[in-house]
Amino acid sequence: MSSSPLVSLASGYGPYPTPAVAVEAAMATLRSNRALPVSAAEGQPELRAALASHYRQWGATHVTPEHVVVTPGGKAGLLTLLQAVLQPGDEVLVPTPAWFGFWEVIQRAGGVVRLLPLSADDNYAFTPAQLAEALTPRTRLLLLTNPNNPTGRLYTRAEVGALLEVTQQHPELLVLSDEIYDLVQFGEDPTPTLLSFPDPHAQHLVLNGFSKSLELVGWGVGYLVVPPALARKCAAIQFATGKSVPAPAQAAAQAAVEAAAAIAADLLARLAPNRAQLLYALAALPHVPALPPPAGTYYAFPDLRAYLPPAESKEVASAALVTHLKSNGVEVVDGTSCGTPGFVRLSYAVEPAVLTEALPRLRTALEAMRKRI
Ligand code: PMP
Repeated sequence: MSSSPLVSLASGYGPYPTPAVAVEAAMATLRSNRALPVSAAEGQPELRAALASHYRQWGATHVTPEHVVVTPGGKAGLLTLLQAVLQPGDEVLVPTPAWFGFWEVIQRAGGVVRLLPLSADDNYAFTPAQLAEALTPRTRLLLLTNPNNPTGRLYTRAEVGALLEVTQQHPELLVLSDEIYDLVQFGEDPTPTLLSFPDPHAQHLVLNGFSKSLELVGWGVGYLVVPPALARKCAAIQFATGKSVPAPAQAAAQAAVEAAAAIAADLLARLAPNRAQLLYALAALPHVPALPPPAGTYYAFPDLRAYLPPAESKEVASAALVTHLKSNGVEVVDGTSCGTPGFVRLSYAVEPAVLTEALPRLRTALEAMRKRI
């Protein structure tokens, strides 16, 4: 039992302050000495234009402001989009490990979750053959996350392109790419956006947001980039449900996307030493299979199956390990919530002192568990 207060590597949101340019832009709206404008359901035209131009920069040359819908966060954007495209009982294919937030959103939109388990043994390779085999006549949407939460795996242009050769043979199938961590990437090539690939059947949809790559934590701004007719349908759902994003948050978002390169560079500079420290500590843990360093996001997802206590199921064992870590002072996310028991998600988007405190506790707690089993 740890005597010091709990330290947490569990949150998906960084501790960093809102970028100054975004604070200034929001304040200017508030100080205008006029009533705040009531925002259009699809988002302010200036922000939609800035987002379209941001995506065009990454090779999505066809994107116009009419493709963009500003949403109250990424999660709300996902719900609206799924409500717009799913019929009750439609299947959504989710390669796992995946973000634990997806399941309930899909279900609340009337969809049925179908899992496609990928394996740590081949660093979560996702092959065209696996995809072709998993599709059924009921599959309406394939949900990709690139880079992936929780594994940090970044799928390359060649890998995504190979999957799209399969999806193009199924023109009724939609492909949604959650690119909310797109700028949190440590590789040489940028995250390939789905919107930069040929899309002869208008199947490609993108979800993105401001709370990860652009440090607008807690501002509640996300967005969709989808064909204009679908964008209008999503805006109509937002209008009917009163979901438009308040003007100060949209002004902050616009300033953030216009300064995206600088904000992301600042974030990566803060993350880099933490990333090195975490990966070094994980590599030194016995019985944890080595994987290539995750190229994207601010997570690592180590395989702790060698540390699971005996239990009636993998899920129960995984929960017991996470509880044991917590009682030894470190909070982490149980991989079961991401579809992968026996793994844990660790975030290094934390203050350096938190990581420095957490890593030895993690190691000591794991060693203690190993002695018990
Ligand atoms: N998608 C993924 C993969 C996420 O990790 C998250 C947040 N954890 C979201 C979407 C939702 O983000 P938001 O904070 O904008 O609702």
